[in-house]
Amino acid sequence: MIQITMPLNMLGMVYREIRQSLVDMGELFGLLDQPAEISDAPDAGALRVTEGAVSFDNVAFGYDPERPILKGVSFSIQPGETLAIVGPSGAGKSTIGRLLFRFYDVSGGAIRIDGQDLRSVTQDSLHATIGIVPQDTVLFNDTLFYNIAYGRPEATREEVYAAARAAHLHAFIADLPDGYDTQVGERGLKLSGGEKQRVGIARTLLKNPPIVLLDEATSALDTATERDIQDSLRAIGEGRTVITIAHRLSTVVEADRIVVLEDGTVAEQGTHADLLAQGGRYATLWEAQARQGRDEA
Ligand code: ATP
Repeated sequence: MIQITMPLNMLGMVYREIRQSLVDMGELFGLLDQPAEISDAPDAGALRVTEGAVSFDNVAFGYDPERPILKGVSFSIQPGETLAIVGPSGAGKSTIGRLLFRFYDVSGGAIRIDGQDLRSVTQDSLHATIGIVPQDTVLFNDTLFYNIAYGRPEATREEVYAAARAAHLHAFIADLPDGYDTQVGERGLKLSGGEKQRVGIARTLLKNPPIVLLDEATSALDTATERDIQDSLRAIGEGRTVITIAHRLSTVVEADRIVVLEDGTVAEQGTHADLLAQGGRYATLWEAQARQGRDEA
């Protein structure tokens, strides 16, 4: 009997882990139907994160070998830094996120975390190291508590509340008649885009990974919501390395470094102030976005 139930229990555990990582990846990449093509190297060891430094070294990649998307991209992120990747639509910003999660292998160059090539470590250890805040957080038809605790199902109630507080969700939840027991999702309370993203931030805070990949929501948020999200993101950035795939420039101003991607290469990099002073691509994008903001106001 023991012999039969043990493997079944294991299977349940494995299933939950696979499902969790698929949902995480699917949330970020919208690729749930696509099988992962990557497997661990026979001698792969666990990724050892000592500081959380990330480097892209001359990275080349194309989904189709005939059509290169990244053509020798290099940048590095120091431990605890926030790096924002900006650039025109289709420049390859989200592709950089997919490569960091090793959804695909690079065709040239290397990506390293604390000096370890992603191809030399197990995918499980890589996925446990990187937390993802997706553009559009998937909500389950369950309670708000379940949806936040999903980041670390064994978390205590106090830990879940603390994550909600840091993500600026607690006051909103406390005002609901059923509080954390409120049902959300298709059959429950519908959350706004900003609230959903804060659930994603709370989940990631609970998971407590050393590196966070943030795929910023493309939709415009109202100013108050955006400010709340910025405050929540600051909580995520404390003591962690953060890579933001930025679709709106307004959110990158505070980044330690901005990488401007264009035509598969790094066109410029620096701080917001440096790049504005250079008067190059970033300054042009910034001016165009500011003009658009004025026209819409
Ligand atoms: P946006 O700001 O519009 O989200 P992006 O800079 O994030 O754009 P990517 O999503 O990285 O751009 O896409 C870069 C290029 O790769 C695009 O030309 C896109 O068509 C192509 N691409 C993206 N995903 C795939 C895929 N799964 N298979 C084939 N080509 C893809």
